[in-house]
Amino acid sequence: MKVLIVEDEPTLRKLEKRYLERNKIQVDEAGTGDEALEMLSISQYDCILLDLNLPEKDGIQVAKELREKQNDVPIVMVTARSQMYDKLRGFDSGADDYITKPFDMKELLARVKAVIKRSSMDKNDVLRLEDMKIFPDRNVVQKGEKEISLSNKEMGILEYLLRNREVIVSAEELLEHVWDSNVDMFSDTVKTHIKTLRKKVDPKKKYIKTVRGKGYIIK
Ligand code: CA
Repeated sequence: MKVLIVEDEPTLRKLEKRYLERNKIQVDEAGTGDEALEMLSISQYDCILLDLNLPEKDGIQVAKELREKQNDVPIVMVTARSQMYDKLRGFDSGADDYITKPFDMKELLARVKAVIKRSSMDKNDVLRLEDMKIFPDRNVVQKGEKEISLSNKEMGILEYLLRNREVIVSAEELLEHVWDSNVDMFSDTVKTHIKTLRKKVDPKKKYIKTVRGKGYIIK
């Protein structure tokens, strides 16, 4: 899971980031609406945590611009206490949920997870691969009676390939979607994780195919 935090207050941003990361969520940060929009045009996120009161472009404008661009990333709008009117405007702008400051980090995590879950259920899919059932939220692959545990990155890769079935996915795209933005783009890390992923769920290389010079595909 990958979340973008849009918050102009660095202290709060750092707190949120640290808490989410401790709960196995990849986090990128933006301090302004324009910075956020730029990041959203490059990377894919499972959710954005969007502060309403931002300098220049506020949260509502950011959400509106995203929806106008047909970007349907789930949005949790962060508002100050008792901004009822703003709260409603937030919903009009396309936010999926809201949370009022000051909030408990546990509640924040629950909201984020809930909107991500809702949006993935909207896509209406149980992830399956032949005789395997895939549970991304638990990092588990079930094969018959056997449960195989994956690391965050292994699951991220498997989930991304499955959601893009029949499409060749490049290593760069995987880095962009599964890793946070601090990853070294020239490293061999994707290759390494594909290797360990195969070892666990596809030792005979039946499902995860390498397309030389282009990337990976699940058919
Ligand atoms: Ca703010």
